[in-house]
Parts: sequence; structure tokens; C-alpha cells
Amino acid sequence: MSLFSKSKMNHRDNRGVERRAMVREQIAQRGIADKAVLAAMRKIPRHQFVAPALIEEAYRDSPLPIECGQTISQPYLVATMSELLRPQKSQTVLEVGTGSGYQTAILAETFDKVVTVEYFSELSQSAQAVLQKLGYDNISFHVGDGLVVPDDQLRYDAIIVTAAPAQFPESLSDRLKENGRMVIPVGTTRQDLYLVKKDHANQTDTKNLFEVRFVPLLG
Ligand code: SAH
Repeated sequence: MSLFSKSKMNHRDNRGVERRAMVREQIAQRGIADKAVLAAMRKIPRHQFVAPALIEEAYRDSPLPIECGQTISQPYLVATMSELLRPQKSQTVLEVGTGSGYQTAILAETFDKVVTVEYFSELSQSAQAVLQKLGYDNISFHVGDGLVVPDDQLRYDAIIVTAAPAQFPESLSDRLKENGRMVIPVGTTRQDLYLVKKDHANQTDTKNLFEVRFVPLLG
């Protein structure tokens, strides 16, 4: 095999062509403009976060099932929620619902530090394995109910929740710092995505953005 065909093969195994098409057609063309989010989504191998049988589907415009009856969100929704957080390379983000770890990787690329909490230890462990293999060292993993752990004293610049509580959890807004941002789906039969912003004086502004479909928050 010539050097040329070998490098072409590696390129194809890494699925860069599919990934760039996903970012162009599903994300940039639909209006996502945050450069750090777009760069992260061009870089992160989404196919490594799904079961082997679903690798061919990994770059499709849809959510996919993962273990424990959970789902990895549609790429466009991941991009939208990531952009709404207004990621800053100097800041810390809390993620509730590690799941596959795909959203966690986007956060690790676009924030300084990520604290991520997952209800199922099995999911937390497999996400940790993939993210370590990809070289991320700015993520701390926790197992439990993300609404109560980790340490309630800590406050975050941004919070993202990827499972829907039935009611708005006021306790979470308290964990946002001044100028903090949070995105969270809320509801049961009908769910809506909310954006909560805190200003420099700790006043919160809550907006209902649009209808969404997430797995229910457990615990
Ligand atoms: N962001 C994930 C989406 C996973 S689906 C991804 O990209 O793959 C939502 C996840 O939230 C599931 O893994 C589910 O187990 C987890 N979850 C549900 N309730 C939770 C809770 N109370 N605390 C932490 N994680 C929870």
C-alpha cells in the first residue's frame, strides 16, 4: 500500500469528511456562528461516542440511542445549547447528564474546566474512557443526581442540563455565578428549552426559547 493510500484510509476512518459536512449543512447553514463551537464540532469524533452498530448513523441529523435507555442529542441541538452558553476559555461549566460524553467533549474544548454529573455509573465510566482516550484532562466526572451533587457550595459560569425535570429547579439557578448562563429543558408531555441569565447584580432573567424533546431527569 502506498503512503498516499494509507493516509487516505486513515482520513476516511476518522470520518472527517462526514463531520465537516454535518457542521456545514446541519449547523452553520442553520445559523450557529460561535467559532469555538463550530471548531469543536469539526474536531470531535462523534462516531466514537456511539455503539459500534450505530457508527454509520453518527453524523445524521438526529438523536441516537445510547446505553441505559438514554439518548445522544441531535448535533444541531448540541450546537444550539452550546452556543447559548456563550462559552469562554477562562470559565467553568457544570453539565448535568454526561450520557455518551459527546456534549462533554464540546464543553471541554470551549471552556476551561468541565464538571459533569451522570446518574448511571455505567454511562459515566464509558464516557470517561472515551474522553480520556481523546486526551481531555480538564473534566471532572461525578456519579449521582446532578441537582444535588457535586458540592453545593460551588458556583459556575455556565450550567447545561440535558435531561428534563418536570418543574423548573430553582436550586440550580442559585449555583450560577454573576453573569452566568444556564440552558435547561423543563416539562413532561410538553417540554420547553429555557435560557436563564444572571446579570452582574445576580438578577435572573428567564426565557422560554422553543419546544424540545429530552429524556426525563431521574432521581
Ligand atoms: N448530553 C448527553 C445526553 C444524554 S441524555 C449526550 O450528549 O450523550 C441525558 C442523560 O442525563 C442520561 O445519560 C441520563 O442518565 C442523565 N440523567 C438523568 N437524570 C439525571 C440526574 N438527575 N443527574 C444526572 N444525570 C441524569
